[in-house]
Amino acid sequence: MSLPTILVFGDQLNRRIGMLAGATPQTHRVLIVESAAKITSRKWHVQRAHFIVASMRKFAAELSTEGFHVDYRFARSMREGFDAHVREFQPTEVVATEPNSYGARQLAARLGIHTVPSTQFLCHPDEYQSFRGSRKSIKMEDFYRWQRKRLNVLMDGDEPAGGRWNFDEENRQPPPKTGHDRWPEPLRYELDEVDRDVLESVQKHCFGTLPEGQWATTRDGALARMRFFVDRVLPLFGEHEDAMLKSNWHLAHSLLSPYLNVGLLLPEEVVTAAESAFRKGKVPLNSAEGFIRQIIGWREYIWNCYWQWMPEYGLMNELGARKDLPPMFTDPAKTSMACMKSVLSGIHERSYSHHIERLMVLGNFALIAGINPQQFTRWMWNSYIDAAEWVMVPNVIGMSQYADGGMLATKPYASGGAYIDRMSDHCKGCAYDRKKRTGEDACPFTVLYWDFFLRHQDRFVKNPRVARQVRAAQQLQDNDELQVVAVKILKKLDTGTV
Ligand SMILES: Cc1cc2nc3c(=O)[nH]c(=O)nc-3n(C[C@H](O)[C@H](O)[C@H](O)COP(=O)(O)OP(=O)(O)OC[C@H]3O[C@@H](n4cnc5c(N)ncnc54)[C@H](O)[C@@H]3O)c2cc1C
Ligand code: SF4
Repeated sequence: MSLPTILVFGDQLNRRIGMLAGATPQTHRVLIVESAAKITSRKWHVQRAHFIVASMRKFAAELSTEGFHVDYRFARSMREGFDAHVREFQPTEVVATEPNSYGARQLAARLGIHTVPSTQFLCHPDEYQSFRGSRKSIKMEDFYRWQRKRLNVLMDGDEPAGGRWNFDEENRQPPPKTGHDRWPEPLRYELDEVDRDVLESVQKHCFGTLPEGQWATTRDGALARMRFFVDRVLPLFGEHEDAMLKSNWHLAHSLLSPYLNVGLLLPEEVVTAAESAFRKGKVPLNSAEGFIRQIIGWREYIWNCYWQWMPEYGLMNELGARKDLPPMFTDPAKTSMACMKSVLSGIHERSYSHHIERLMVLGNFALIAGINPQQFTRWMWNSYIDAAEWVMVPNVIGMSQYADGGMLATKPYASGGAYIDRMSDHCKGCAYDRKKRTGEDACPFTVLYWDFFLRHQDRFVKNPRVARQVRAAQQLQDNDELQVVAVKILKKLDTGTV
């Protein structure tokens, strides 16, 4: 029987998204293409490749169980899979939900696929556009408050619950001195036959530690993790949101980003679960607000920045950062910096690190060392379980590397060893001394931090948010010597161990 086909992309794995929401086995056939070109196009982290491919195969199986005719195609490329499907089934038309990346939307247009608006995010770019109006850009805080009001989340009438919009002040505590086991261990999952098959096919192209059940690959598994998070972890979310500990990789982070990004979870259900726990008195307001801010604020803001500024945005390099990615990023043994080694090894083991480790350790280091932002983006994209172009590009180019010259962030997120020492337990026992700016054991973060503001003083002295740091760098007694040490560190980064 000739039916229209819905092409489902690998990050749209939810029955309630866009085109699939209104479809039944009687009205539509489904096409999912597993493209060998995509899998072998880069050296992915094995947990990331496994997560995406296993989630696709299991979602296809769930649709089949529901009665859909699913054409799950193994093909050399998306185009090849699509063409073969059309030849075999002669669908009346092929339709899809708007893909989540610029490249996939271009491909859909080239293939003549009709697309319907995506419901995978809470703020569609058209809605964002009408909120923005003629303004050049919107601050995340304004966007977030608008989202709170229009979605009626954490609102008491027209006022924010508890009378305040923002609990950042309470949520930036350093790590506690003791009780580092207070955060519940994340749920684990048994690997099944499908997982093992997938691993066999992707493993040879990948790097990193094989999965041991850290990441679920079904909607049921994702829902279980969401419930576990809301019941057991969310009450602790706020306070130490920005803290880092070498002995604890998750703290109170939700670990929900991979599921949200491939559609196994939808943002509205996560937000509803968090708000409902707060309303029942099970979660304090600073934790509920801090978490909801990430989902309806940051996540949706980043999504809309992507659509507002791509494709040119991904190529921006306003600070002219040209350094190649140092070998330590692919081999953590090549650094003696305790903070970098801990975060890089964690990524090898789990394909994950939490936000502050991404922003204030890896991103900060890439920024102050002048690493090429496109190379850094690519490495992060290959390495992280939750990576996707729409979220990786604005977070790297804009938020962490200031490569957009300040379109997204109003200041560069640069800091020295003092910040890392305050917010983590890495510095104690490190080969370097976070207070030193000169000498063999000078902390690379501290040295490169001051050097960064000296290198870019003309630009940043005009920025009110960091002008003070620039003037402090100019006034350092030893700034000549410090710049010599910085050059040595930068040189050593290319070949030796730093
Ligand atoms: C340099 C850099 C690269 C990043 N790359 C990615 C990426 O590829 N994929 C990705 O999903 N996130 C990325 N982020 C954002 C953020 O670090 C992760 O979403 C978060 O660490 C995921 O872990 P979690 O689910 O435990 O988060 P939690 O701390 O529990 O936060 C809850 C949720 O909020 C959302 N969120 C929070 N901050 C952001 C943000 N800045 N942008 C988008 N969503 C946000 C995520 O969906 C996350 O699951 C990046 C941030 C930086 C600074
Ligand atoms: S001393 Fe410097 S390099 Fe060592 S852990 Fe602290 S910030 Fe990192």
